Amino acid sequence: MQKINKIVKNVSTFLYPNICLHCNDVGQDGLDLCRRCYSSLPWIMHACKHCAIPLPVSSASICGACSKRDLYFDQAFAPFVFDQFIREAVYQYKFNSKLNYGKLLAHLLVQSIQNQNLTIPDVIVPVPLHRKRLRKRGFNQALEIARVLSKQIGGVISVQDILRARETHAQMELAAKHRHANVKDAFTLSAPKPLFKSRHVVIIDDVMTTGNTVNEVAKRINMAGAERVDVWCVARVV
Ligand SMILES: [Zn+2]
Ligand SMILES: [Zn+2]
Repeated sequence: MQKINKIVKNVSTFLYPNICLHCNDVGQDGLDLCRRCYSSLPWIMHACKHCAIPLPVSSASICGACSKRDLYFDQAFAPFVFDQFIREAVYQYKFNSKLNYGKLLAHLLVQSIQNQNLTIPDVIVPVPLHRKRLRKRGFNQALEIARVLSKQIGGVISVQDILRARETHAQMELAAKHRHANVKDAFTLSAPKPLFKSRHVVIIDDVMTTGNTVNEVAKRINMAGAERVDVWCVARVV
């Protein structure tokens, strides 16, 4: 059976080869990205374990800001800086609804999680969109990434357990001093959630700007009794 699966995969790769979304060359490892473009992605080599901000390779594993603050999540992970092709791919995915870019970003995130040997969570929580924005966009970019993650590595996706209580501005559009107030108490639990109780929960988002948004989501999950909350994003704004 394994042999047949391999043959089917080889035939479909031959008939429908992966094409690099950046330069149209042939994709590698089942990704719509060629070897050259893959290696030139804006990888984060070393980051703060707490908030995922890139740090010089030889520095400590906690940044200066995190050594002075308490966050509601334990660890954040993002494989990329929000820059270059990753920024372009997020834009095409979110604002032009090109879902093949989202699929590529999700697969890159899965690969990075596997390479880092991160612990697979019990529950995966995509950052919810407000219903008005969901209606306008037609999909929640974080949920689509969470679907790929859940299928590839496991974890039950929680949808509708955490809701946006009110509309917020996109964090990236705001000056740093307004970002905390923008998302403060913006999320609510839809009902008491035994789903989170004593569980390891991972919050998924496409881009982490300052961490204020995921911190607000983490606050609610903690209130529902989670044992541990982590954050996985595709890219980190620096
Ligand atoms: Zn390429
Ligand atoms: Zn930090």
